[in-house]
Amino acid sequence: MALINEHFLKLPDNYLFSDIAKKVNSFKVTHPKEKIIRLGIGDVTQPLAPAVVDAMHKAVEDMTSKDTFHGYGPEQGYSFLIDAIIKNDYTPRGITLEPSEVFVSDGAKSDTGNIGDILRHDNSIGVTDPVYPVYIDSNVMSGRAGVLESGKWSNVVYIPCTAENGFIPDLPSRRVDILYLCYPNNPTGTTLSKDELKKWVNYALANDVLIMYDAAYEAYIQNPETPHSIYEIKGAKKVAIEFRSFSKTAGFTGVRCGYTVVPKELNGFTLEGKRVQLNKLWNRRQCTKFNGASYITQRGAEAIYTPEGKEQVQKTINYYMSNARIMKEGIQKCGLEAYGGEDAPYLWIKAPKGLTSWKFFEKLLYEVYIVGTPGVGFGPSGEGYLRLTAFGDRDDTLEAMARLKKWML
Ligand code: PLP
Repeated sequence: MALINEHFLKLPDNYLFSDIAKKVNSFKVTHPKEKIIRLGIGDVTQPLAPAVVDAMHKAVEDMTSKDTFHGYGPEQGYSFLIDAIIKNDYTPRGITLEPSEVFVSDGAKSDTGNIGDILRHDNSIGVTDPVYPVYIDSNVMSGRAGVLESGKWSNVVYIPCTAENGFIPDLPSRRVDILYLCYPNNPTGTTLSKDELKKWVNYALANDVLIMYDAAYEAYIQNPETPHSIYEIKGAKKVAIEFRSFSKTAGFTGVRCGYTVVPKELNGFTLEGKRVQLNKLWNRRQCTKFNGASYITQRGAEAIYTPEGKEQVQKTINYYMSNARIMKEGIQKCGLEAYGGEDAPYLWIKAPKGLTSWKFFEKLLYEVYIVGTPGVGFGPSGEGYLRLTAFGDRDDTLEAMARLKKWML
């Protein structure tokens, strides 16, 4: 008899996006003629950069000949990609990394979800709220989150980020061992300044806190003062793991590639207080459970760092960020409060007075046929907000704003 991991049973049945899909699908059945504009799920719509496609074609060619064929690669990633990552994403920001501190993977969802494998089940967790749901759900699965009581997990410290505090999280009210920070933030689209991030790094250094820093959207930062990496802050290598993704940077949501940085200076502790390099544990975990991202994928990712690749990828990011500007202006003209959208492809909209997130979602779907994501799906402090993404087609984005204007004004 195989006993199950009963922590899975604690997870609420429905995942946010399947609830949304159900509502949208039943609306489609009753309104088959209406054109629905989907600005809900954070998936990209524009094709891969030609430089990436060329590199992937070439990599496929490599696979056709015995001399250039690639079987299993290094679990940590090919050095051609790791070197390009360090040279382009870190060295220009004054950050030095050894190649063995970078782990290429199939994306940041897997890594942020799997990182808990190397940490004890009874660490306490802190999250900014609202937050990307994977951080909490993966900790629920390992038993680390405790039990769900009135919409909150008992062993999770929620740090509210709302319009009232300008989306700047306060230091946690009680001790946490592991803290998740995601900047630019999904879902609020807001960022932390260097000083604010410094506050967190110093707090972690003083309190032996491990920071999980998810920088999946760093490529969208426009403000030259905003940090792209937590390692821009002195001392951060001693306290933080950083997650990056090519999904939104370069349209890799369907290709699958990202990477995680685990500095060698970063330690965890045994119960007896002995220091252990987390880099060693993550390396062991990856070598045992992961066989590397494919050669073809990694050649594609490498091409993002070529001069043509950089230019093409930036063009697509600019396209999405123009959508974000159009949306923010359009929404604000309608008299709604909108946040984010300046250094991130997400807009976080305050629901009109008296409407919950789900009521606002339904109103938008039923009356203007626009699909957003109810903010409460990202955590208790998301109640009363709705997330829209800038990843749509330009025409759809313009039409959505026109519909909204007609509806509100
Ligand atoms: N981290 C954040 C904050 C995200 O919003 C997402 C995707 O939406 C991911 C990670 C997942 O990225 P990937 O596609 O690399 O798994």
